[in-house]
Amino acid sequence: MAGTILLIIQNPQYLKALAYALKDSGYQLKAVSRALQGIDFVRKEQPSLVITQLELEDMNGREVATTLKSDPRFAKLPIATLISPDALEERELCLVAGISGFIDLPLKLELLPLQIQFFLSGGTEDISDKSKMADAKNRHMQDLVKRLEERIRQLEAKNTELERLDEMKDTFIQLTAHELRTPLTLITGYSRLLEDHPPLRNLSERDPQIALLIDGLSMSITRMQSIIEEILTISRIMTKKIELSVAPANLGAIMRRAIQSYQEVLKNERQVSIYFDEREFPVAIRCDEALIQQMVSNLISNAIKYTPDGGSILIQAQYNNQLVRFSVKDTGIGIAPEKRESIFERMTIGGDIALHTTSKTNYRGGGLGLGLSICRGIVEAHGGKIWVESPGYDPQTCPGSEFIVVMPIIVDSADKTVSNSIKKLQSRSAG
Ligand code: ADP
Repeated sequence: MAGTILLIIQNPQYLKALAYALKDSGYQLKAVSRALQGIDFVRKEQPSLVITQLELEDMNGREVATTLKSDPRFAKLPIATLISPDALEERELCLVAGISGFIDLPLKLELLPLQIQFFLSGGTEDISDKSKMADAKNRHMQDLVKRLEERIRQLEAKNTELERLDEMKDTFIQLTAHELRTPLTLITGYSRLLEDHPPLRNLSERDPQIALLIDGLSMSITRMQSIIEEILTISRIMTKKIELSVAPANLGAIMRRAIQSYQEVLKNERQVSIYFDEREFPVAIRCDEALIQQMVSNLISNAIKYTPDGGSILIQAQYNNQLVRFSVKDTGIGIAPEKRESIFERMTIGGDIALHTTSKTNYRGGGLGLGLSICRGIVEAHGGKIWVESPGYDPQTCPGSEFIVVMPIIVDSADKTVSNSIKKLQSRSAG
């Protein structure tokens, strides 16, 4: 069976002419417009012939040939390039670069099938004057190095520009969130005053509609505050400006408070049970309590969001006098192996964007995709590690996920037995 002919061609006229000439050749045609796409295709599909334009946006035809011919698998791959017959010097450079021969420009439709047949049957062209070979090789190498240097300089300049834009974006996000926080604090205050205003309180006691409106208002304000806090935390993490205010804290109490904040919703809206034994947690660890609370709260909120009604969440801990390891394990939809790292990146949401919601508890209601990167930022700022284990993603069978955090304890007088799993984790983290 005839193979494939790869056309690395940017010019639509040339592409049209080549496709026309090859339509009855029996070969499949693959057309790409960028050299790197072409190189990737050759490595994967091993075509029978490559036809390339000399000047392409990302590389030139000679560079394509040198790259491919440096791989022994493609030593015999015929590569033809479109070139004007007058470009004598360039033709020499092409031949020493690994180009097999030429198709003259302007293209002559009636000659094309024959020319292509020549290359498919292994035909090559040679430098007629052999004494010029060494000089042509030299020039080709010099040219390659010069272009490579130019490319590196361009990339460095682009990189500097991107870093500058990234910094501007981070500053913009941080300033915007700060600016929004001030009026929101005022709105929160006014709404509390309004709620406590005796005539309005009387009215809401008599009229459930008014009570509903006031509740809705205060819930939305709380939600907005937590979004702004999330954005501020992530921007502090992004700009590495996270400053921990470290003090001894009771991890069990932090966990209990985080769970309590979801109790109402769990009772009224979602049938998910949480199992947790405060005694498993260290009572004194040095950490930034507010940030750790935010982190565990995110993990619990995710476990609730991605676990269907009827499911359960198990929160467990083990510790010794150096490390605490705790995990939030759910019986939810699970996480595909290829997503286990990327979900910790900013703005990565694993599910359907159509399910996006600002709720922290709706089933499969994805948020901003910031929660887990905040968790990772907070855990790493404390010198710890966070990762997820899950048999896979399946909303039907719900294999579940387990988010595991290991953090140094630093302060803890209680001398508990060092469990084997923590010892293993220590050596894993060290490795
Ligand atoms: P989001 O705000 O979208 O929940 P996160 O950063 O908290 O953002 O989570 C990123 C993605 O990781 C989620 O969109 C979801 O696909 C996946 N994910 C997080 N926690 C769980 C979990 N407990 N079970 C299954 N998938 C999860």
